[in-house]
Amino acid sequence: MAKTSEKIPYKIYLNESEMPKAWYNLRADMKHKPAPLLNPETMQPITLDELSAVFCRELAAQELDDTTPYIEIPSEVLDFYKMYRPAPLVRAYCLEEKLQTPAKIYYKFEGNNTSGSHKLNSAIAQAYYAKKQGLKGVTTETGAGQWGTALSMACAYLGLDCHVYMVKCSYEQKPFRREVMRTYGADVTPSPSETTAVGRKILAEHPGTSGSLGCAISEAVEAATSQEGYRYVLGSVLSQVMLHQSVIGLETKIAMDKYGIKPDVIIGCAGGGSNLGGLIAPFMGEKLRGEADYHFIAVEPASCPSLTRGRFAYDYCDTGKVCPLSKMYTLGSGFIPAANHSGGLRYHGMSSILSHLYDEGLMEARSVEQTRVFQAAQGFARVEGILPAPESSHAIRVAIDEALKCKETGEEKTILFGLTGTGYFDMVAYGKFNDGLMTDYIPSDEELATGFAGLDEIPVNK
Ligand SMILES: *Cc1c(COP(=O)(O)O)cnc(C)c1O
Repeated sequence: MAKTSEKIPYKIYLNESEMPKAWYNLRADMKHKPAPLLNPETMQPITLDELSAVFCRELAAQELDDTTPYIEIPSEVLDFYKMYRPAPLVRAYCLEEKLQTPAKIYYKFEGNNTSGSHKLNSAIAQAYYAKKQGLKGVTTETGAGQWGTALSMACAYLGLDCHVYMVKCSYEQKPFRREVMRTYGADVTPSPSETTAVGRKILAEHPGTSGSLGCAISEAVEAATSQEGYRYVLGSVLSQVMLHQSVIGLETKIAMDKYGIKPDVIIGCAGGGSNLGGLIAPFMGEKLRGEADYHFIAVEPASCPSLTRGRFAYDYCDTGKVCPLSKMYTLGSGFIPAANHSGGLRYHGMSSILSHLYDEGLMEARSVEQTRVFQAAQGFARVEGILPAPESSHAIRVAIDEALKCKETGEEKTILFGLTGTGYFDMVAYGKFNDGLMTDYIPSDEELATGFAGLDEIPVNK
């Protein structure tokens, strides 16, 4: 019990007045900028006008802006943030005690809102700019359902139409997610669907497919570009999303500075890279400017290993090849993760910013198998009182691994990880784990080769 007498509280909350007023654009501090997005028709860097046909104007501008370090958070967005932020920075005393580790463990908890994840931070920003432009509504895809829920909430708040293409296997596995979105007024379609040309094409080529994020993105883009007054919005991968998610890292940094805490290791799960990118942004900025050093670890599923086994190449962000191309670590836009894969983090590619930092050796990446992820989730839930999302539990797994390493070496490292959300809608997966029926799947090199073959056909990769 000695530890509880230390002066760091269990939860560090900021006052409203201490909340960040601007997002931080890490690209401004990168000497070598990420490669530009390419127009899929011309294979040339995409222009603001071209990008504005897909995204609303201000978001397209943010997407292309790699020089402005701070971008003011509009006061309407800040007001919305105040409903569920600041998010607590928690000292995991109980987990430390259970592990008997000399390490100090902190996590930033982003699950304190109905969407149950950090995705609301960007959903409200994207919906705000769409509303400001006078649009009728937005279309999007959702995999596990958190992004669709977050966007539905933001659209309901601002009075915008919201059409969500939900990956078919999630639509079937997570009926309650669907109903939350409908409660917030969204229109939800299982993807691939017969409602778009690209959906019909994918269904004809792969009858009975359970869908993928890449397919759902193509459908959502088509739905947006074929209707007057609609634009497409995306919950991860893009640089604008990472910009909005920088609020996670900025709050964390303010809270840590307040108590003189300096993390040694910073860990986050990586799907498309937005929470990890947002959490590490201000810390990576310090590292890039030579002011401090940190050990960053991206954690991804062994069944969808874009950083650890992917290629750094130009790729389409979607299966239908209608989105701009991004230079990133990717498994190929045709890659579809194994059906036994339970948690989110199913995307074939990775944020171009994180891909670039990883390529330059500024960040480590690890892949973990899902049964070990759920073991960590269960252990964490039992001592810290929060039922974590499977996605977040990838970060928990590696935080525990690092803390156990400290136990062996006696090092008193300070470990920070992002707890991106709660897992109440993932009880089918937890059930499988509890019944001992969960299995691991690691794709073979041959299986990955199919996705890579598509990359070789892209002219700019030749
Ligand atoms: C979407 C999601 C992720 C992964 O997305 P990133 O863009 O990589 O952050 C992680 N955790 C939760 C809870 C999510 O909803």
